[in-house]
Amino acid sequence: MSKKFKIKKKIRKSKIVKKPKRLKTAAPAKEKPKELQTLRGMRDILPGESKYWNFIKEKAENFALNYGYEFIETPILEETSLFARAVGGETDIVAKEMFSFLDQGGENVCLRPEATASIARAYIQHGMINLPQPVRFFYFGPMFRYDRPQAGRQRSFHQFGFEALGEGHPILDAEIIFMVFNFFQELGLRVNVQINSIGCSRCRESYKTKLVNYYRERRSELCEDCKRRLVKNPLRILDCKEEGCQSLKGEAPQIVDWICEDCKNHFVRVLEYLDEVNVPYNLNPYLVRGLDYYTKTVFEFFPEETAGPEASKSDALAGGGRFDNLVEFLGGRPTPACGVALGAERIILRIKESNISVPAPRRLEIFLAQLGEQPRKKCFKLIEDLRRAGFYVAHSLSKEGLKKQLEMANKLGVRYTLILGQKEILDGTIIVRDMEGEAQEIVNFGKIVQEMKKKLISEQIIPKISEAPH
Ligand code: AMP
Repeated sequence: MSKKFKIKKKIRKSKIVKKPKRLKTAAPAKEKPKELQTLRGMRDILPGESKYWNFIKEKAENFALNYGYEFIETPILEETSLFARAVGGETDIVAKEMFSFLDQGGENVCLRPEATASIARAYIQHGMINLPQPVRFFYFGPMFRYDRPQAGRQRSFHQFGFEALGEGHPILDAEIIFMVFNFFQELGLRVNVQINSIGCSRCRESYKTKLVNYYRERRSELCEDCKRRLVKNPLRILDCKEEGCQSLKGEAPQIVDWICEDCKNHFVRVLEYLDEVNVPYNLNPYLVRGLDYYTKTVFEFFPEETAGPEASKSDALAGGGRFDNLVEFLGGRPTPACGVALGAERIILRIKESNISVPAPRRLEIFLAQLGEQPRKKCFKLIEDLRRAGFYVAHSLSKEGLKKQLEMANKLGVRYTLILGQKEILDGTIIVRDMEGEAQEIVNFGKIVQEMKKKLISEQIIPKISEAPH
């Protein structure tokens, strides 16, 4: 026996160890991995909904272009102090609803709860005071608020909006309200505009004193939140939907009776401009908006049927107002401004509930089916030629067999399927299959792009494509 073999045997022997007898116990139940889902109050927007998103996005972008608002995109993550300073530390948004955390560098950052503060920050940071004023911005993007989720209120939602910085004239307030009113009209949604003035920082202070005096005498009738608001943010008591607080506000002093001459004058002129263009509005002395940066005009848009005094915060489709002190407050030069934010999810919900028809997305026109490796390669290139010519093209390059590919083309609802096999390659042709009539014709491969153009334009399935897009 060779030395090598002996060693191997030794090792094998040494491995035979008697296993201890197992005690019979119940096998531990295998823990099922937790199903991964979106976070509470957040949702996916799936392809089936895209027609609604495209519809409002396109409309909003057109409005922005028509009215001279330019697109701005600010980061979703900002310093927490930006919102604490701009929106106000005692507001619900900052006190309760911020998604804030320390980043790896120890900086306190947060997901933006709204866009106005970021836009004011960008305006200062990039010296936009030197541009012709007002500078008009349009934005569209996700916002985050850690609120209690319910119908129309999510933790992650989308707002789009219009902000004009560098103009104090009341015509700007009216312009923005008129623009948003027209926007809703063009969508086919009937809305009601609620409007108020909350004065400037000076006259608001004297009003706050009156309000606090009024509520202090009735403190025991206030809800717990409003008892806290009485000290920290008394204007918000007017906003409270609790029954007890609601019934008290009828007798409360109204801000319009306490604002200074300048603010009163401003407000009256805004209303006159709205009258001029026949925008119907309701004066709402209790509308204060939740954010500290507002001055003078504040407004909200509600669906017409829910616009009564019981309208809840979750019904509003849009809201905005003047913010004359914000830029200066964040370290810039005095810059009067006005803006509005619209809630995309709530608007889409209203469009669906009102059965408003929105344009269907353009359907796929051509499907490419191939039979074999060589045809696959030719189709691979042909897809790009067809795309450059402006067609919407689907394919199944990875699949084998015509039946499966035609089934897929049927499911996608394409108008024509182009079929390329070995025979067609030898003949220099390609088959065009009409997916509605099911007739087939053989076309010269080199002329297929032209042929498809002719067919689809004559059937008015695609508009005249003048230039190939890239
Ligand atoms: P605000 O910044 O709170 O004035 O909100 C402006 C608009 O954004 C509202 O009128 C709503 O349409 C929408 N909005 C605000 N908060 C939410 C939310 N949590 N979920 C969905 N939409 C919201």
